Amino acid sequence: MSLGKMMDKALTTTSIIEHAGRFHTNTPVISVETDGTISRTGWGEVESNARKLNAALVRLGVKTGERCATIAWNNRRHVEIYFGVAGAGMVCHTINPRLFPEQLIYIMNHAEDKVLFFDKTFAPAIGKLREHLKTIEHYVYMGAADDEVAAAVDGVLFMDDLIAAETDDATWPEIDERMPSSLCYTSGTTGNPKGVEYTHRSTVLHTLGANQADGLGLSAKDVVMPVVPMFHVNAWGVPYATAAVGSSLVLPGPGLDGESLVKLIDGEKVTMALGVPTIWLGLMNALEKTGSKALSLQRTLIGGSAAPSYMIREFDEKYGVELIHGWGMTETSPLGSINQLLAKHTDLPHDEKLKLRESQGRPPYGVDLRLVSDEGEILPHDGKAAGNLQISGPWVVDTYFKADGSALTDDGWFDTGDVAMIDEDGYLFITDRSKDIIKSGGEWISTVELEDIAISHPGVSNAAAIAARHEKWDERPVVLAIKAEGADPSEADILAHYEGKIAHWQIPDKVIFVDSLPIGGTGKILKNKLRDEYGDVLMTEDA
Ligand code: AMP
Repeated sequence: MSLGKMMDKALTTTSIIEHAGRFHTNTPVISVETDGTISRTGWGEVESNARKLNAALVRLGVKTGERCATIAWNNRRHVEIYFGVAGAGMVCHTINPRLFPEQLIYIMNHAEDKVLFFDKTFAPAIGKLREHLKTIEHYVYMGAADDEVAAAVDGVLFMDDLIAAETDDATWPEIDERMPSSLCYTSGTTGNPKGVEYTHRSTVLHTLGANQADGLGLSAKDVVMPVVPMFHVNAWGVPYATAAVGSSLVLPGPGLDGESLVKLIDGEKVTMALGVPTIWLGLMNALEKTGSKALSLQRTLIGGSAAPSYMIREFDEKYGVELIHGWGMTETSPLGSINQLLAKHTDLPHDEKLKLRESQGRPPYGVDLRLVSDEGEILPHDGKAAGNLQISGPWVVDTYFKADGSALTDDGWFDTGDVAMIDEDGYLFITDRSKDIIKSGGEWISTVELEDIAISHPGVSNAAAIAARHEKWDERPVVLAIKAEGADPSEADILAHYEGKIAHWQIPDKVIFVDSLPIGGTGKILKNKLRDEYGDVLMTEDA
């Protein structure tokens, strides 16, 4: 007599794209190509191209577990590579093209990439880097045969030719769900970047976690535009999440300026868009300029750094767009928390609801969060205690790629390097990166809060708060601010704006106006650069 048994089906990214190909065959996948033209295919064609690409890679001799890199924009072929490479049993290694050449070389040699897929924009750079790339055997241009590319990259293969050479009979191989599927290096402001290798299983579980109603809440009714780059933690998992539910996908290609995005939102009737706050600042300016009301847009997910409170309010009140704040990191696939309200908040006044939306949200089923003091004591979730944020779950890193030992604490948690508070309802409030926090006379001052207040001044378009060295207090806050177009606030105006909003001793010592702030490859402000430049401004003054 049998005791009964359930099917043992592997959780693979192939199962996701097969589902999309079979049940959402004609759901549009809209892609802005590198030359600005728009291509329109569907999940059926993406699946078929990905399956053929998998066969082509095997034919080229790439082996199971080997890395195939991409240096590319968000476009249709990039999605086909995600699924085709992982489905072939290889690892899709997405690379941030905005890194310095030395970092690109380090990453590709460290990952021992065998194949490099690239968009036209990057052909000249690749031609130059090539002599330093020790392991790459095949350079594949993401497009049809092209003389210019052939001239820039000797011996280049063309992705469209590779796919055209395979037949519809191409099949997906069986994959063990614990095999690696993709690899992403962290932006790492110090030292060499570190690789996080995701597995099929971790990616599928992350997809299911992200697709909960209180997660991204995507559906087959949505038209989703990931502005977050496909090299930034797999575009926050959006290619998998949209394929799993059969949303339509809009891939914005190289044009990430506000006006191009507004055009796409209005033209393709995007219902949900995802990106970092810096990109959304550009979008808001463009909405203002063009007079677009972004009528189709229902929700937008912001993460990667803190969403400024005025942005939450403006999206809501001017455009009727719900801004969903999320937190995560490369090491967490990335979803760690996402902000949705609870039933008990339904009747709260509008302003109180907006205030609640400022939190980075609550963990979805699948991840657990805790706060730990510097002394190792577990802190309560009382909305007061701030400590080191630790996370655990099946889509959280254990060991970095090629690292000697596990990155976890003795009891199996990953320390995020973020400092946070969690309230009684489980809402997370990130106050800082532990290395960015300002310690004034032993007391912590949140840079996130200081920046939020500065940006809420109408005369400021962006701001960064840093710790500047101070003789008496060790560190004091200094704010670097960019003036809004057409505005000319004084330092005193900005300092006055802090009055009554935070404790007096937390008000910055100085506001310095700058023309621009250094932004890293994933759209975040490079605080270490600012500290190098402005870290001593108070010392020289006080001396
Ligand atoms: P990355 O691995 O490059 O995505 O960086 C992850 C880090 O970005 C986190 O550890 C946080 O410091 C920061 N971060 C991500 N999302 C948020 C958010 N919503 N608010 C504040 N910081 C964030």
